[in-house]
Amino acid sequence: MCGIVGYIGERQAKPVLMSSLSRLEYRGYDSCGIAIAGSHVEVYKDAVRVKVLEKVLPPMPGTMGIGHTRWATHGEPSQVNAHPHGDCTGEISVVHNGVINNFQKLKQQLVAEGHKFISETDTEVISHLVEKYYVGNLEEAVTVALHDIDGSYAIVVLKADEPKLVVARKDSPLIIGVGDRENFVASDVPAILDYTSRVIYLEDDDIGVITRDSINIRRHNADVKRKTHQISWNVEDAQKAGYEHFMLKEIHEQPKVIRDTIGGYISAAEPVADLTKSLDTGLGEILILASGTSYHAALIGKYIMEDLFKVAVRTELASEFNYYGQSPVRGQTIVITQSGETADALKAIKRLKEENCRVIVITNVPGSTASRIADQVVDTRAGPEISVAATKSFIAQLMALYWLALPYAKVDIRKLDNLIMGLRQLPGKVQRVLDNVNAVSECARQLSKYNDVFFIGRGINFPVALEGALKLKEISYIHAEGYAAGELKHGPFALLGADTPVVAIIAQDNTAEVMLTNIKEVKARRSPVIAVVGEDNEAISELADSVITVPQVDAIFSPVVNTVVLQLLAYYTAKYRGCPIDFPRNLAKSVTVE
Ligand code: GLU
Repeated sequence: MCGIVGYIGERQAKPVLMSSLSRLEYRGYDSCGIAIAGSHVEVYKDAVRVKVLEKVLPPMPGTMGIGHTRWATHGEPSQVNAHPHGDCTGEISVVHNGVINNFQKLKQQLVAEGHKFISETDTEVISHLVEKYYVGNLEEAVTVALHDIDGSYAIVVLKADEPKLVVARKDSPLIIGVGDRENFVASDVPAILDYTSRVIYLEDDDIGVITRDSINIRRHNADVKRKTHQISWNVEDAQKAGYEHFMLKEIHEQPKVIRDTIGGYISAAEPVADLTKSLDTGLGEILILASGTSYHAALIGKYIMEDLFKVAVRTELASEFNYYGQSPVRGQTIVITQSGETADALKAIKRLKEENCRVIVITNVPGSTASRIADQVVDTRAGPEISVAATKSFIAQLMALYWLALPYAKVDIRKLDNLIMGLRQLPGKVQRVLDNVNAVSECARQLSKYNDVFFIGRGINFPVALEGALKLKEISYIHAEGYAAGELKHGPFALLGADTPVVAIIAQDNTAEVMLTNIKEVKARRSPVIAVVGEDNEAISELADSVITVPQVDAIFSPVVNTVVLQLLAYYTAKYRGCPIDFPRNLAKSVTVE
């Protein structure tokens, strides 16, 4: 979602804020702005891209400032609704990520007390509340103002005559970048990597006062110490490295991501996580919760675990579980969240903990909120993922799920050795998929001409069909739907015809035969078929209009090679259609609101 940045130090704040904001662009936004405090607060903002704003900014001298990329929740994207927001005096300025639930009531009260509002945002109540409670100390005013607020927030507040930034968070991410005679604030690590790799993660209810030389954090009126983490990501990890888009770079990084993630588990002294509570009792049931692409990883995890250790695995969308779901009998849960800050996932984890469940979190961001509140964390080593459409983080999540499952596999030692060998061979197999890009690009050229596409798969490749459809719609804006192949005739068949291509994912498992039957049924309705299939499948080349072959792997690993094909297919289709691949409209990378 939106990005927040802040700077206080000896450099000019404007270039630091603008470069940090541009590093947060991947999170998705609709407008942006900055405020610099000199003798007074100067604010520039608009419903434009960061680069466009940068071009029109006047000189804005000052060594302290805040900036924001907004993802509108209250009020349309417009100049007046863009952040930062001010108070009536024009001296206070606030950037905010999150949602203030009781803003209507607060606004009415403030208006009755004489405050003049100019935007439709919920955020503007914060700046007016700080003004209302200000009696000579910004930190105290912010602390009192936050007592009135019900909602989620990460905020940075500044005031013209006080050389400090006041920060606070509740259910929205916020980090402090620690420098020498300067300090930074941001929603996410990539924003500050150009300047420092030392980071403090704020906790819910923390309120921090940051000056050029000091960082003091209080929680519930008591001083608290927060650890400074050394980040191992480097600036190059967060740059395009010669690729046209972050998404393409991230797709191509996947052999390395698999190696790094598995390598991390192999070299770990401890088992990656303990699932015995569910498995030893016979009453086992594991619940996996996630959202979006991570949910598709969860679905694949269900197939992996049910196949390998014969225990019922339930998957639920975190956003649904939060309002309807039941916790599992033995309390064993796995929550998957790329950013570790997904609002729905965090809400689910908090509830699960209250209900005495044991929560294993799979996340790509060490130090994220989810990783701090989980009982056990399984890190993925995808590195920073900038493109909004998740690719390498998904593949890394699959690695985590394989590794979680393997110690409990109810298979003989030979089969287990083969599985581990198969896992180790995956980087090479994925590299071969990446080297076969011409076939995929040609299919993408065809696909780019259509308005509707179906993806079908069975078994462990049914979630792959869902993920392929999601990727395509996210970045190419083509209407796409993923279906279990057997379900197509229960309704969607009504839509098939020469204008509706079907991408069929075929694994070499017990579903291979019936998939061929399903493809014949589709062909009989004149839909063009693109088949994604293991090498040496002769039968399919006679049936399908186009065939993309993938290296042979054990069926349990087929989601890895097949998903990489579908990522490339979505990428090249979006490219043929001239779409803004890394920053698709209306989408945000890290979904920090419910
Ligand atoms: N709710 C605020 C707004 O609509 C903040 C949105 C955001 O997190 O970007 O302005």
